[in-house]
Amino acid sequence: MNITIVGTGYVGLVTGTTLAELGNSVYCVDIDEKKVEGLKSGIVPIYEPNLEEMFLRNIQAQRLFFTTNLKEALDKSEVIYLALPTPPGEDGSADLSYVLKVANDIGEMITEYKVIVNKSTVPVGTADKVKEVILSKTHIPFDVVSNPEFLREGFAVEDSMNPARVVVGSSSDKAKEVMSKIYQPFTNTGVPIIFMDEKSSELTKYASNSFLAVKITFMNEIANYCEKVGADVDKVRLGMGSDDRIGNRFLFPGIGYGGSCFPKDVKALIKSGKDDKFHFQILEATENVNAAQKIILISEIEKYFGGNIKGKTIAVWGLAFKANTDDIREASSLDNIKILLEKGANVIAYDVVAENNVKKLIGNTIQYAKSMYEALENADALFIATEWPEFKNPNFDLMAKKMNNKVIFDGRNMYPLEIPEQNGFFYKSIGRKTIL
Ligand code: NAD
Repeated sequence: MNITIVGTGYVGLVTGTTLAELGNSVYCVDIDEKKVEGLKSGIVPIYEPNLEEMFLRNIQAQRLFFTTNLKEALDKSEVIYLALPTPPGEDGSADLSYVLKVANDIGEMITEYKVIVNKSTVPVGTADKVKEVILSKTHIPFDVVSNPEFLREGFAVEDSMNPARVVVGSSSDKAKEVMSKIYQPFTNTGVPIIFMDEKSSELTKYASNSFLAVKITFMNEIANYCEKVGADVDKVRLGMGSDDRIGNRFLFPGIGYGGSCFPKDVKALIKSGKDDKFHFQILEATENVNAAQKIILISEIEKYFGGNIKGKTIAVWGLAFKANTDDIREASSLDNIKILLEKGANVIAYDVVAENNVKKLIGNTIQYAKSMYEALENADALFIATEWPEFKNPNFDLMAKKMNNKVIFDGRNMYPLEIPEQNGFFYKSIGRKTIL
């Protein structure tokens, strides 16, 4: 099948590459000329495990193409995926301007039947809005389908090639047939394709992300309570997670959720609710708890240094919002760094792949280290903000040699308590006793 993907960000590039890998001819369109030039010459602009290899293979096989010319791509394709940004507007609502602008362009450009597939995360009723915009521009027949994306950054290729399910919202039999054909390689291997109406499909995405945000936040509150009463959240987590009604995933406490999806999707669902005179109480609580959780270790750092961290050097391990990605959108590291700097501390940070993205945002207000150990040189404390695998089993002797004080504030509960204890470190983590 010939397919156009509009938007070559995390979702568009991975979806396009996956569909090419499944044998389709895929035309990826972006307005960012520099990005398209890079993609054409084989440069993957994001860090995503295993993407580059698959991307290069499909370029070589001439199944994956990049252009800034939407019309050229549309003319070649029967199916058009929208993988466009839907960032939060001032009031928290999803900004649909990117999606509706491209809908308008599509309306002006199509000359024969197309299926327009919306992969962006959008509020209930967006498929109707997209339809309206296109209808205002053309009499050519078309269908609009909702096909939310569930991939996780850091596992995007794995998730795209082996989805747990495919959700398709459509009221057109013709479009459903096209979607069944595209996803036939998955359904053949037992992946369920769940058909529903457009609105239910749009809400499925928000409901899924919001549920996971609530689950993480619930566990963070349990962790905070553990500290109050002397329980150990790691044990509670294991005890809870082995019940398969609960499951053991998304039960790890830490310094809050971030990233490009959970914060914005929770906000957008709260705002959609408000617009429909519906109060999402549980989501409002989740947002508030998460905002406090992201910076929960700051007061602990201050307490350790007697209330004043001015002039202290804090090493930060991890800048990405989670491991295995270079995405720093809404990363907890950034909230903490901002406060540390405001309070007069010096920050020296190390991340496996996210340094350049942080530099673009905050420049040289902090120092950047080339390795996790370089970051510790003369540091008064270490703050762990991202659970990168390379932080899991560090050389504590080397750490002790480099640091001024043997002090760790761990926002990701990286170590069993006995490890820092045996190595003589002060160790403050989340929901567990402090090792003094
Ligand atoms: P992104 O910001 O990484 O990429 C969006 C791309 O669209 C950019 O390359 C941008 O240049 C391009 N673009 C903007 N306007 C354009 C236009 N008029 N024509 C062509 N290209 C244009 O965004 P993303 O993270 O890939 O997210 C896209 C959507 O998918 C969002 O709605 C998001 O909520 C949703 N989503 C994201 C993830 C994720 O993990 N990132 C997962 C599931 C769903």
